Amino acid sequence: MQPIAQPQPVLNVLPTRRPKAACTLGIIGGGQLAKMIAQSALQFGCDIVVLERKEHSPAANLAREKVIADWDNPESLLRLGSLVDVTTLENEFVDADSLEALSRFGHPLWPTADTVRVVQDKLLQKRTLAEAGLPLPGFVEAPDKAAVAAAARQFGWPLVLKKRRNGYDGKGNATLHSATDVDAAWQQLGGDSNALYIEEFCPFAAELAMMIVRAQNGDSVTYPLVETIQHHHICHVVKAPASVPAETANRATDIARRAVEAVGGVGALGVEMFLTKDGRVLINELAPRVHNSGHYTIEGCVCSQFENHVRAVLGWPLGSTELRAPAVVMVNLLAGGSGLGVPLGLSEALAVPGAHIHIYGKAQSVPGRKMGHVTALGQTMEEALNTARRAADLIRFGGEV
Ligand code: ADP
Repeated sequence: MQPIAQPQPVLNVLPTRRPKAACTLGIIGGGQLAKMIAQSALQFGCDIVVLERKEHSPAANLAREKVIADWDNPESLLRLGSLVDVTTLENEFVDADSLEALSRFGHPLWPTADTVRVVQDKLLQKRTLAEAGLPLPGFVEAPDKAAVAAAARQFGWPLVLKKRRNGYDGKGNATLHSATDVDAAWQQLGGDSNALYIEEFCPFAAELAMMIVRAQNGDSVTYPLVETIQHHHICHVVKAPASVPAETANRATDIARRAVEAVGGVGALGVEMFLTKDGRVLINELAPRVHNSGHYTIEGCVCSQFENHVRAVLGWPLGSTELRAPAVVMVNLLAGGSGLGVPLGLSEALAVPGAHIHIYGKAQSVPGRKMGHVTALGQTMEEALNTARRAADLIRFGGEV
């Protein structure tokens, strides 16, 4: 009788199955925020799956898998949910009812659909914060142009007319200086088809922002209060820490913490605030996600907003938010023209000592689009600002390469 052949061990052959990652994180959206979240998750040995509408996006190269589909479609979200352990998002423009499908089918999602529902509608967000007793500029719903005239009687001119949903980088805002501006602003924002509301104009002395990362058990860490400098409603520069008295910083921290609690936020949330000339701190708006005003934390803090966001949504301990230097400055790289997303002058900028350069890898530049950022640390704010600006001024987008 033939002896039964014993299977021979196969030597020097690597297993074909992927080793199990620490966790598989799903990200709705594939832009620069998703890319930087993915970079932090990869640091911990996680796998990434990105849901985006188009094939090429800044986060796509880092993803194990891509779901190319519309993120407002519950089926696309459920497909993402079925591929990952936990889902998070990089923008608040996903339909909250569709998002709810994820939790209904048992797929963990942070922040929750309820948080996104409140924050994505700026009027609902403001009503929620006002109910929590938080300080805000005056606001009213604007179902028609007559409401603008009534708001002018209540608050006086100027007023800011805003879209309730889907506004970013000031694209959903119009400042009205008198009754003659109403028609054009109403038309610009599509008032007959988009829901609008009106805010009292806040003649601020400075704009402040704070990142807060809240764990699933409600514990939270706060980053330093920063000053943000906007031109034409787009953030250009972030200075950390904000140069305000300690009492103001403490008050702003308390307001920001209460705001995050009022919307039940989990993960990173950005709180944008106005500092008025008479020292009041008013909330401008919340972002239920990592935020441009927190990019400085990558090199500027012990643990970045992106790392702490990943830790929070995966249920891991939060890390230190301490600054690594007395002053940190971040300068956004905004495209000057239309063209390819490839930077000109990168090599020269990399020669600036102490400048930390981030290029997002967007395929196309469009005037004003955020294409990257530069961060610098310094012993003084002036030193950090000079280094960041020197490098940023050398980089341009919009030329054909
Ligand atoms: P987005 O959501 O598009 O970023 P915001 O509503 O935060 O828009 O407004 C962008 C910028 O416009 C703010 O950072 C601030 O400079 C200015 N702004 C917005 N609302 C007001 C207001 N009520 N009063 C004065 N300036 C405002």
